[in-house]
Amino acid sequence: MKRKVAILGATGVVGQRLVQLLQRHPWFEVGVLAASERSAGKKYRAACNWILESEMPTDIGELTLVNSDTHSVERACNIDMVFSALPADIAGPVEEEFARKYPVLSKASAHRLKEDVPLIIPEVNPDHLALISVQRKRRKWEGFISTDPNCSTIQLALTLKPLMAFNLKKVVVSTMQALSGAGYPGVASMDIIDNVVPYISDEEEKIELETLKILGDFDGVKVHSTNVAISASCNRVNVLNGHLECVFVELETTPSIEAVKEAFASFRGEPQEMKLPSAPENPIIVREEPNRPQPRFDRDAGRGMSIVVGRVQHDPALTIKYICLAHNTIRGAAGAALLSAELATKKGYV
Ligand code: NAP
Repeated sequence: MKRKVAILGATGVVGQRLVQLLQRHPWFEVGVLAASERSAGKKYRAACNWILESEMPTDIGELTLVNSDTHSVERACNIDMVFSALPADIAGPVEEEFARKYPVLSKASAHRLKEDVPLIIPEVNPDHLALISVQRKRRKWEGFISTDPNCSTIQLALTLKPLMAFNLKKVVVSTMQALSGAGYPGVASMDIIDNVVPYISDEEEKIELETLKILGDFDGVKVHSTNVAISASCNRVNVLNGHLECVFVELETTPSIEAVKEAFASFRGEPQEMKLPSAPENPIIVREEPNRPQPRFDRDAGRGMSIVVGRVQHDPALTIKYICLAHNTIRGAAGAALLSAELATKKGYV
C-alpha cells in the first residue's frame, strides 16, 4: 500500500514538479491536490498552467482541486502525509494546522529557523530529524513539520559538508539563480531579458542563516549553529532551471586540490546507504572540464538530484574556490522534499 499524500500549492512550480516526481514513486502517491481559493473546485488541468516538458499525467489532470485547509483536504481523501509548496507568507498557520495530525514536509521558509523544526538535507544532517520528537512533545502534535532549505542553500550546504573535514572558517558565495526559482509567472520578462538582476528578496539572509543551522550540531534537544562566517550575494539570471554558485572557502588547513576533489566525489550519506528511492548514486559529481558545470548541460545529472561541481582550484585570497550547480526545482525543491519524506518514513516518523 502506497502512502497517500496531499500537495498544498499543487498548481505552482514546485507543486507541479512534485506531481511529476510522484508519478512513479514506489512508496507515495497523490491523494489530493490543493491550492488557493482561485483554483479550488476546478479540475487540475483547467486551473494549472503546466510548465514542465513531460505531459501532465491524465488521471491527475482530472482531479478536482480543493482549498489548502484540513477540512477541505480531509473531505477529499484520507491522507497519510502532506507536502507543502505554499508561498511563505501563508504557509505558517496552514502547516501548523495540518501538523496537529499529519507529517508535513515543507518547502516554504515559514518554519525553517524555528528551534524545534528540523531543516534537513538528508545526506548532510539526517540526525536533526530527531527534532521531530522534541517538537511533538513541546507542541503536543500527532504529526510534525519538517522543512527543506531554500533552493540555493541546499547545493551550498551539501558541498560544504565534505569540506568540514578540512575545518571550515569562512565562506563567500555569489549565486546566479534560475527564473523558475521565483515561482510562476515569476520575474517579468521585460525585467530579465538581456539582463541580470542583482537582488532576490531575503535570499542572502536565507543562505547565510540556514547553512549555519544545517551544518550545526544536534545535542538531542536543540541544534547549535556552526561557527562559520558566511557571506552571500544573489543574482537572478535569464536561465529557466539550474542555479549556479561561485563559492570561495577559507579552511584552517590547506589540502591539495586532489584531496578536495576526492572529498567531494566520495561524499555519501544515509540516503545512499539506505538506498532511498530518490537518492542519487553520487550526491556530488566533479567535472574536470574548465567550462563546466553549465545549467543547460548539467542540471539533470543524477535525475536532477546530483550537485555538479567544477573548477576546483586554490584561491589566492582564501583557500579554495569552486563552482556548483543544481536543478533548483528538483534537488532544490520537489526532489529534496521527497528525499526528506523517504528518510522520515525509513526512520519511522511517518
Ligand atoms: P508558485 O509557482 O508561485 O506557486 C504557488 C502555489 O501556492 C500555487 O499552487 C498557488 O495556487 C498556491 N497559493 C498561492 N496563494 C495561496 C493561498 N492564499 N492559499 C493557498 N494556496 C495559495 O511558487 P513555487 O515556486 O512553486 O514555490 C512554492 C514554495 O516553495 C514557496 O514557499 C517557495 O519559496 C518555495 N521554494 C520554491 C523553489 C523553486 O525553485 N521555485 C525552490 C525552493 C523553495 P493558485 O494557482 O491557486 O494561485
